[in-house]
Amino acid sequence: MTDTYHIPAQLLANANRVVVFTGAGVSAESGIPTFRGRLSGLWERFEPSQLATPDAFMADPELVWGWYEWRRTLVCNAKPNAAHIAIAELAARVPRLTVVTQNVDDLHERAGSAGVLHLHGSLNAPRCFDCGASFPDAAMKPQEPDAGRRLAPPRCQHCSGMIRPGVVWFGESLPEQVFARAFEEASQCDLLLSIGTSGLVQPAAQIPALALAAGASVVHINPENVDSRMQNAYNLTGAAGEVMPELLRRAFSGSP
Ligand SMILES: [Zn+2]
Repeated sequence: MTDTYHIPAQLLANANRVVVFTGAGVSAESGIPTFRGRLSGLWERFEPSQLATPDAFMADPELVWGWYEWRRTLVCNAKPNAAHIAIAELAARVPRLTVVTQNVDDLHERAGSAGVLHLHGSLNAPRCFDCGASFPDAAMKPQEPDAGRRLAPPRCQHCSGMIRPGVVWFGESLPEQVFARAFEEASQCDLLLSIGTSGLVQPAAQIPALALAAGASVVHINPENVDSRMQNAYNLTGAAGEVMPELLRRAFSGSP
């Protein structure tokens, strides 16, 4: 049996610049739904894409704010898993580590990762819909765990506009500076670990390809192999919460 960890562990042990690129699969292992299919409860008539737009928020702010508050509650009640923790520990093992995530939760931060680049915004960065002023997260009290209900958004203290979730909605432009930094890190790294991401959501999915094109190695960590015949691309198949601690152990413990 070939040891699939051998090359990835060697690459990790020798890397100077590492990018960890995470997607919904990593959050899913903490019990956070991926919201790819139909919703349930109050929102069962809707596709996620129908609620995650500026138009939906303007048409029915209480419905949309209620949905995001419910999602924020799920995150508040979830815990970082072994993958989040291994990623945070990795920062002390390599000279430079950048965490880039497509996830809108704060599980990387709660595991101890710093400077996380959130490509699609964050549930914890609400801001005014009208003037853009940020709304202190401290002002937001988590709702009840099963608070599947409509909820009026708070009002901006500067212009009395509605406070909206700090996530990137369909039809909105992506945070340019965050993407620019992620692309730069990907193009300058030695190794990119792509974890729990289908690689289908553009333009985020360009990030592993960019690293490969710039000469880095890429390790895909997923329950299913990513179809990649690219040179310097490797697969470690399994749950991120199992693969990541094992990969660190192999790379840094000195044991074969
Ligand atoms: Zn405002």
